Amino acid sequence: MNRANLTIFLDLEETLIDDWFAGNWLPEQADAILDCINSRILELHPGAMSLGLMSWAVEHVDDKLAFIRRFSDAIENHFDLKFRSEFILSVQDWRRIINRTSIINFSNEDFNDFATKENVVFWLRHANENLFPIGHIILVDDTISHGDKIVTDSRVIEFINPKQLTG
Ligand SMILES: [Mg+2]
Repeated sequence: MNRANLTIFLDLEETLIDDWFAGNWLPEQADAILDCINSRILELHPGAMSLGLMSWAVEHVDDKLAFIRRFSDAIENHFDLKFRSEFILSVQDWRRIINRTSIINFSNEDFNDFATKENVVFWLRHANENLFPIGHIILVDDTISHGDKIVTDSRVIEFINPKQLTG
């Protein structure tokens, strides 16, 4: 997995901003995430690097457009990395991807009940690369178990919880 591509999936609320409506940047946490990712990059020697979105505040296509309008430039500037447009995903997109990769067919309601961030990436750990990137994946979210890792033949998925970085 040397020189594997790195994709960083970012949560928004309580990770980079306070909440979707106010949208205030959380500078201390954002800086801590950047430092943590930079230290991981030095260890990983990654190939191409890009950003993706995994925020349950972004429910559908209108929210994605609002995200692009309100937040994507600031986030790209902060990390000095670009979002890949196909990885700017809403809750609806994640549900569709999960439904395409398994025999499970989640309704909106069931998806909201069962789809923790950890579950979603676990369900996608063997997914085809046109549905979920292969290589190194870092998931940054204020609710996940910091330091956990999922390793398969084609992916290493690492969990970073920003609350654990700032104490
Ligand atoms: Mg959050």
